[in-house]
Amino acid sequence: EHEGRVAIVTGSTSGIGLGIAEALAACGAAVVLNGFGPEVEIEATCRRLAEAHAVPVRHDDANMLEPGEIACLVERTARAFGPCDILVNNAGIQHVAPIEDFPPERWDAVLAINLSATFHATRAVLPRMKERRFGRIINVASAHGLVASPFKSAYVAAKHGVVGLTKVVALETAESGVTCNAVCPGYVWTPLVASQVAQQAAAHGLPEEEVVRKVFLAEQPTRRFATVEEVAATAAFLCSAAAASITGTALPVDGGWTAH
Ligand code: NAD
Repeated sequence: EHEGRVAIVTGSTSGIGLGIAEALAACGAAVVLNGFGPEVEIEATCRRLAEAHAVPVRHDDANMLEPGEIACLVERTARAFGPCDILVNNAGIQHVAPIEDFPPERWDAVLAINLSATFHATRAVLPRMKERRFGRIINVASAHGLVASPFKSAYVAAKHGVVGLTKVVALETAESGVTCNAVCPGYVWTPLVASQVAQQAAAHGLPEEEVVRKVFLAEQPTRRFATVEEVAATAAFLCSAAAASITGTALPVDGGWTAH
């Protein structure tokens, strides 16, 4: 379905972003991976995706903290593969602390990567999407874009911001063949969640299994983690022609969390 299309997935060297990149490659898109990690591993991932799906794949190490690097990511992609048809704003970080102890520089970093980078990347891809009358922008928000939990002030604020930005982009692009939607995962087992589980287990002196059951899955009525593949399939659907009338939504993939 996306043969000849060009997709940028930010924060896609691991977790949900990598799953979405793989789902889009499987639909025939050329894919730009972004994010950090050991170079040999990233190279192996690029090769694996390119060979499995017979599409061009490259890695770009633009830092989502830096607006200038985000603009360069979009330009380098255009030079290598052509203009971006599908932008997935997925890069994200978390910091867990009560507001009184929340380091202001962590607040700034969470807002910069989870929210502002989405603005900067969207701003950079929109002119050519509008010109070409096709575009798909998927913002990976979170159940925390719709409801709150304590100790996640920056993350919850950023993800609610992403949901708001999604609606504005949808309205501004409504007549141009571009759609913009947010996907709102509940807990998905990725390195980001694994490190939160490990931290809380250590902080409370509890086994990780108990932290998972009592803290994490307590929020999620299905009592299991959503999978990377489930989130990726939702994102891929929102990129499809069938989803052309879906824009400005925030779609939970959260095992019923936000139905509470
Ligand atoms: P992850 O830690 O596995 O992956 C994060 C990716 O972002 C990695 O590729 C990392 O290299 C990249 N990254 C981090 N900082 C970056 C920067 N400054 N510039 C460029 N790339 C950077 O995390 P994940 O769990 O896959 O999360 C992906 C997205 O999904 C995030 O936006 C997260 O908030 C969201 N999300 C995750 C869950 C979950 O339960 N895992 C739930 C809801 C939403």
